[in-house]
Amino acid sequence: MPGFELFGAAEKKEVNDVLENGVLMRYGFDGMRNGHWKAKELEQELEKRLDVKHAQLTTSGTTALNVALAILGVGAGDEVIMPTFTFVASFESILNAGATPILVEINDTLTLDPKAVEAAITTKTKVVMPVHMCGSMADLDALKVICNKHNVYLLEDACQAYAGTYKGKALGTIGNVGCFSFDYVKTITCGEGGALVMNDSTLAKHADQYTDHGHDHIGNDRGAETHPYMGYNYRISELNAAVGLAQVRRTEEFIDIQKKNKKILKDALRTIPEVSFRRIPDEEGDSATFLSFFMPTAELSNKVVKAFSEYGVDAYWNYFDNNWHYVRKWEHFKDLRSLFPISDHIKNGMQNLKKLEFPQSDDFISRNISCLIKLSWTEEEVHNRANKMVEAIKSVL
Ligand SMILES: *Cc1c(COP(=O)(O)O)cnc(C)c1O
Repeated sequence: MPGFELFGAAEKKEVNDVLENGVLMRYGFDGMRNGHWKAKELEQELEKRLDVKHAQLTTSGTTALNVALAILGVGAGDEVIMPTFTFVASFESILNAGATPILVEINDTLTLDPKAVEAAITTKTKVVMPVHMCGSMADLDALKVICNKHNVYLLEDACQAYAGTYKGKALGTIGNVGCFSFDYVKTITCGEGGALVMNDSTLAKHADQYTDHGHDHIGNDRGAETHPYMGYNYRISELNAAVGLAQVRRTEEFIDIQKKNKKILKDALRTIPEVSFRRIPDEEGDSATFLSFFMPTAELSNKVVKAFSEYGVDAYWNYFDNNWHYVRKWEHFKDLRSLFPISDHIKNGMQNLKKLEFPQSDDFISRNISCLIKLSWTEEEVHNRANKMVEAIKSVL
């Protein structure tokens, strides 16, 4: 990761197809487009590769989440359970739906702790939203049992885990709906783009219509289409879809490189007894975009972070004080700083959040270091990096 590292001839060719006919929109203009339907083709590729009945492209991963919540019927008065460690898009999309985000602890998988999820379920809970952070998956079997027992939906945020699997099934296809991001820094990129996937055909029809102003998409005259309900415009452009189409066909190439690079680094770190690794519920299904490990204490992990920069190791994060990914620094969210009024339901539902503590998440996140696995490294660079990481860690022990 990220896919942009290997942007090249295949991507240019797909974009040129679009530039040559000038049809930048995914719908209509059949005569002008010389048979090029990049968005439609990318959706079909995703369906085939992920073995899922329906894929719907959107403008981003964030808007894919917006659409997913809308088609699951999430709105005012509902609660959605999300993890403390994620990307800000999780709460943005829940608030966008008019629902209340309920934050719960993560565990050693760096994703939702099923026990904490079960404890947080109320009569208002409509969706449990695990986020498969840093390329690896949540405990999906356990979460599914809880969702089934309480009759709530499972929505997988697989934005960081495209091409990961769990027990042989693609991440994103195990819950009722799954979301992907193809922004510039994700495993495969459209520049900007996203997708939601689902097997239910009614949900898919709603996703198709909702992303295009609620158009019914019946017949060949857009102007004559009716609106069964209100929607928005979340349409991806053909230019963005064209980049994604080239990238999606390179999935195996990217994942193979990541797995090979990650194995070299992980095997090197295994030699250090103080290092433990993030638990991956299905190791085989890891998309290998990151190597995430724990030090025994937060103090030691801070020292490793310093040592990494001294030893010239780049592209690693400790998320404890991270503005984007961890609850501690989401002041704008906790204060509900908004350009427009927020409903009383949300205000009441979130009033305790500022005081809430997440000791279990703090423990795992403060001890964690996650290292990006790049596609562009040579084998020699990976081995050098492995040696430097080991030296740096040993220097602080
Ligand atoms: C990137 C990301 C998103 C949002 O995707 P965009 O395409 O950038 O809007 C959502 N969730 C997670 C976990 C992400 O990493």
